Amino acid sequence: MLLDGKIVANEKMLKIRSEIEAIKDKYKITPKLQLIQIGNDPASTIYANSKIKRGDKLGVEVELKNFASIDQKSLIDYVKSCNGRDDIYGIMIESPLPPGLNFYNTVNNISFYKDSDGMTPYNQGNLAMKNEMIAPATARAVIDIIEYYKVPGNTVCIINRSPVVGRPLSMLLLNRDYTVTLCHSKTPDIRKISRESDIVVVAVGVSGFLDNDYVKPDSTVIDVGINYSGKKITGDANFSVLEKYIENITPVPGGIGIVTATDIFENFLNGLKYQLENKK
Ligand code: NAP
Repeated sequence: MLLDGKIVANEKMLKIRSEIEAIKDKYKITPKLQLIQIGNDPASTIYANSKIKRGDKLGVEVELKNFASIDQKSLIDYVKSCNGRDDIYGIMIESPLPPGLNFYNTVNNISFYKDSDGMTPYNQGNLAMKNEMIAPATARAVIDIIEYYKVPGNTVCIINRSPVVGRPLSMLLLNRDYTVTLCHSKTPDIRKISRESDIVVVAVGVSGFLDNDYVKPDSTVIDVGINYSGKKITGDANFSVLEKYIENITPVPGGIGIVTATDIFENFLNGLKYQLENKK
C-alpha cells in the first residue's frame, strides 16, 4: 500500500485550522509565527515560503525576518526580543545557519512554549518524560503516518540518530510501546537489524540507499530522506524496487515531507494554547 502523506496532512490541516479559528474568535488575536533566516540559502528560502503559504491556509500569520548577516550575540538578543513579544506565539530558526553562528546556542534561547520546531533541549527532554506537547515535526509526522494507516508491527529500525529525526522519534515510539533500534554510519551490520524489523525508517540523505536487501517482504518503509537532483526530489529508498517487494511504503515527494510541514503548525497550536492558558 502507498502511504500517502497528503491524505494525512489534509485531515490534520482541517483540525488545526478549526482550532486556530476558534482561538482567534475567543481571544481576538492574530497569532504570529516568526521565522528567522540568516543569509539566503535557496533551500531554506523555499521551506520558509512554503510555511508562509501553509500558515495562510491555516489562518496563522507567518513572518520571515531575514538578516543578511548578524553576529551570535545580536541573533540571541533578537530571539529574546521575540520571546518577549505578545503578538509572536511561535519562533523558528531556519537552517542552515552560516558559519560562525551556532544553531544549538541560538535555539536554546527560544522560550519552550514558542519553540514551533521542537528543537530546544527542554522540549526534546520532555519527550523522554512522555510529554509530547511540542516535538520535532518530522518525528511527529512518522508517528502520524504509522497511526493513520494502522501500520502493523512492533519492532522499528531507524537509520538515523540526529536530533531532528532519529533521537526524538525513538522517544515517541517508545512512548507507544514499540521496540526501537537506532542505526547510524558506525553500525556494523544495519541490514541484519533492519531485516528483522517490522518498520524501517530511513533518513540518511542518500538517494536510493535502501533496497530490498534491507527489508523483509511484510515490512513497512517510511522514507524521510529528501535528495535533490536538479529539480527532481527523491527519497532514500529505492522506491520502484521496494513498492513491488514490501507491504507498505511512503512516497517522496508526497509522504513524510508534507505531514512534517503541517506538524510544525501542530506544535505552534499547542504552544499557542499553552501561552493563552498560562497567560505567558
Ligand atoms: P543528518 O543530521 O546528516 O543525519 C543523517 C543520519 O544518517 C546520521 O545519523 C548518519 O549517521 C546517518 N547516515 C548517513 N549515512 C549513513 C550510512 N551510509 N549508513 C548508515 N547511516 C548513515 O541529517 P538529518 O537532518 O537527520 O536529515 C536526514 C535526511 O532526512 C536528509 O535527507 C534530510 O533532507 C531529510 N529530512 C527530511 C525531512 C522531511 O520533512 N521529510 C525533515 C528533516 C530531514 P552518523 O550519525 O553516524 O553520522
